[in-house]
Amino acid sequence: MPPLLEIDDLRVGFATDAGEIRAVDGVSLALQRGEVLGLVGESGCGKSALALAVPRLLPMPPARIEAAAIRLDGVDLATLSDHGRRGLRGRRIGVIFQEPMTALSPLHRIGDQLVEAIRLHRRLPRREARGEALDWLARVGIADPVQRLRAWPHELSGGMQQRVMIAMALVHDPDLIIADEPTTALDVTTQAQVLELMRRLRRGNSGLLLITHDMGVIAVMATRVAVMYAGQIVETAPSRELFARPGHPYTQALLAALPSAATRGRRLQAIPGQVPSPLAWPTGCRFRDRCSRAMPRCAAPPPLYTWGDGHEVRCFLAEMPGGAGDARGASRPPAEAPGSNEPSPAAAAPPG
Ligand code: SF4
Repeated sequence: MPPLLEIDDLRVGFATDAGEIRAVDGVSLALQRGEVLGLVGESGCGKSALALAVPRLLPMPPARIEAAAIRLDGVDLATLSDHGRRGLRGRRIGVIFQEPMTALSPLHRIGDQLVEAIRLHRRLPRREARGEALDWLARVGIADPVQRLRAWPHELSGGMQQRVMIAMALVHDPDLIIADEPTTALDVTTQAQVLELMRRLRRGNSGLLLITHDMGVIAVMATRVAVMYAGQIVETAPSRELFARPGHPYTQALLAALPSAATRGRRLQAIPGQVPSPLAWPTGCRFRDRCSRAMPRCAAPPPLYTWGDGHEVRCFLAEMPGGAGDARGASRPPAEAPGSNEPSPAAAAPPG
C-alpha cells in the first residue's frame, strides 16, 4: 500500500530582485495514513514553503515548484490539471493556516463562508448545508453557534477564528490535513485547546502534516518527526526515538531550547548564529557555522545516514564510533552571559 503522501526530491524557489531564493532544496518525505508527521525547524528553514507547495497554494510566479513526484495515494499531483488539483483541495486535502484571516474573508459572515465551503464539493441544498455548518461550529467548541453563524470574522477572537478555520478545513473529512503553525498566534491556553480539537476531530486514518517551530507542540502531537534546516531534512525519526536519541546537533540544540521542569528558572540554551541565506546556501554542511563539532570533512555536504529503524541523520558524526549521539549539546555555546531565564530569540523564533 503506497504512503498517503509521498514527496520525492521537492524543490521550491522564489524569484526575487536579488536572485532566486531556494526555500526547499531536494526534500523527500512520506506520510502514512493515521500518522502525524511533525515538520520542525527555525524560521527561514523552508517548512511553510514545503507545506504550501504540496497543495500548490503558492503563487506561480514568483514561486517555482519542481519535484520528481508529489503523490497522494499513489497519484502524482503534477499529472493533474489545475481543475483536478483544485478539486482535491478541501475535499481530500484540508489546509489550516497560522493566520485564520488568510482563509476567512473579512467581507462575508462566518455562516456564509462555512456553507460555501460545504457546498463547494457537495451539491447540498443551502438549508441542509446551513444545518451542517451549525453542527460544525458546535463540534469545534463555539458557544451559541446560531448567533456565531451570523457573525463577521472580526467579531470573533483569534481562538474562535482558528476554530472556524479548522471546521472549514475538516468539513469534507479530508484524507490529508496540512496544518501550518496552527497555534503560533494563540495564547498558551487556547493553543492547548486547539491542539486537542485537532486531535479529537481528525479521522483516525487520515494523515496530518503538522508544521511548527515548537518542539513542545511536536512532543504532544507527532508520531514521527522531520527536522528541517536550511531547505533540507537533516533528521527524521519516530517521535519517541527522536526525543530519546536525537542524532543531529541541530535537533539536539532545538531540544535543549525546550523548557522543562529541569530548566525552569534557568536560562534556555540558545542556538547561536542564524540560518544561512537561502539566496546562497553554503557548500558543505549547512549547519557548519553553528556547530561546535564541525570538522574539516564537514566542508563537503553530508548524506542522510540510516541511524536506526526509521531514523535518518544528515551528519558525518553518524558514521563515527558512538555515532551522532556523542554530539549532545553540540551547537556552539550561547554568546550571552548566563543567568538570564529569558528564552533566546532562536528558541522563540517565528515560523518559516
Ligand atoms: S558535525 Fe559536521 S556534518 Fe554534523 S552537523 Fe556538525 S558541521 Fe554538520
